[in-house]
Amino acid sequence: MQNSRNQDQLCCLCGKEAQVTHECIRSGRDVYQYSCKACGKFGITWELLTPLDKDYSERKYLISGYTRNKSERHEEILLTTKNIDQIVQEVANLTLSDKKNNLLEVLYLRQEYDGAPLGIILSLDFPLSYAKNEKEFFVHLKFLREEGLLAPENTGNIAEIYLTDKGIESAEKIRSYKNITKIFPKEAPAQSLTLQAINDLTSNRASQSFSPQDIANLAQSCIDNFLTKETADYALLKIGINPASIPNSSHTLTYYVNMIQFLSSRGQLENWLTELAKEGLKFTQEWLEKLERVSK
Ligand SMILES: [Zn+2]
Repeated sequence: MQNSRNQDQLCCLCGKEAQVTHECIRSGRDVYQYSCKACGKFGITWELLTPLDKDYSERKYLISGYTRNKSERHEEILLTTKNIDQIVQEVANLTLSDKKNNLLEVLYLRQEYDGAPLGIILSLDFPLSYAKNEKEFFVHLKFLREEGLLAPENTGNIAEIYLTDKGIESAEKIRSYKNITKIFPKEAPAQSLTLQAINDLTSNRASQSFSPQDIANLAQSCIDNFLTKETADYALLKIGINPASIPNSSHTLTYYVNMIQFLSSRGQLENWLTELAKEGLKFTQEWLEKLERVSK
């Protein structure tokens, strides 16, 4: 492999000044290594440079979000004509809650010590939340601040923003879930938890409206409708409940049973289901109606 000297050029993704190294790989494939303060460190094949400007100009910010997020996690990236569509699609499919969780996690990774100012620069850090621009990034930060995950709450100096205790706890929870799903990509089938076990779990605390059987059915319904733990937790955060308050379990069904009975006993189930509905989980509608019926 031959490396040419570092050159200051413009980043092929965001157009800001970047360091570029040209490498000739033995197979004859030319690769450019970019180091950009906004898009992070990434490699790109020569073949992709022209289509990138021609066919992806409107979607470059999605790619910047991808490269920056990988880069923050010290993962090596090589963008090629073969993987670029999949990358764009992957990022385009992210929900708002995915983006916020990701942002919380990378901010957590970047803090020097708990509560340290994060030194956020809007113009350089907006790809952290896969935002299209500074404005959208600012909105994402605002959401996290309103949820008490970042402080101070006023708009003052962005560079002074830090993660609150709640923000740190939530970020750690997100990271531990990611580890669990890495280690156990498929959890034990839901049927392995007997109804008796669910009843035992739910009998300790009386629920205001749903019976233990309803709670078990709703938990199963969450799984059947592909509710992820991250989305479930995000909906909790939206209604001001720290996910750390829910007894954790590596078994998703048990975790949802814990969560639902926790919410039910505090009269918060309706709010949580409403937040899930806002995230596009349509199955919650039926449960909201059922909840309304039993509450009467
Ligand atoms: Zn860039």
